[in-house]
Amino acid sequence: MTTRLTTPDQTTEHDHNQCIRNAIATAEHLCIDRGVQLTPIRHKILELIWNSHKAIKAYDLLDLIRPINDAAKPATVYRALDFLLEQGLIHRVESLNAFVGCRSSGTQHDQLLLICTACHNVEERSAPQVFLALAEETKTAKFSARRKTIEIHGLCNSCRSE
Ligand SMILES: [Zn+2]
Ligand SMILES: [Zn+2]
Ligand SMILES: [Zn+2]
Repeated sequence: MTTRLTTPDQTTEHDHNQCIRNAIATAEHLCIDRGVQLTPIRHKILELIWNSHKAIKAYDLLDLIRPINDAAKPATVYRALDFLLEQGLIHRVESLNAFVGCRSSGTQHDQLLLICTACHNVEERSAPQVFLALAEETKTAKFSARRKTIEIHGLCNSCRSE
């Protein structure tokens, strides 16, 4: 396996429990700081999303949550997702209509999402140069950009080498 000098590859072998612990701890702190409630259902949905680095659809979350909370309805899941999106704890992968945990929640950021079509892992990268170039381009077009997300589909490093 090749080692990278910059951002570590988040999709291949790593201690994923550490990812989950970090994400949950960050979310708990952010919610306290902002005076918003990370209710048990929101907490659980966030945990389920962080189960892996794969994007997960709302109805798959509903299937996972039902055995734990049989009162959970699609609206319950959607409301929890809206909250997590608003707080920047997760991202919506538009091209898959699915959700993935954010690695740098707490900061306002644009994101470049690398989506593997084989293992479905999604790697989030900040790609500052890309977004700088985009800002120039939209400025030239006199276009006021509100939200910038770039989604790229292809094969991740580990799927490529198989
Ligand atoms: Zn991980
Ligand atoms: Zn993010
Ligand atoms: Zn892959």
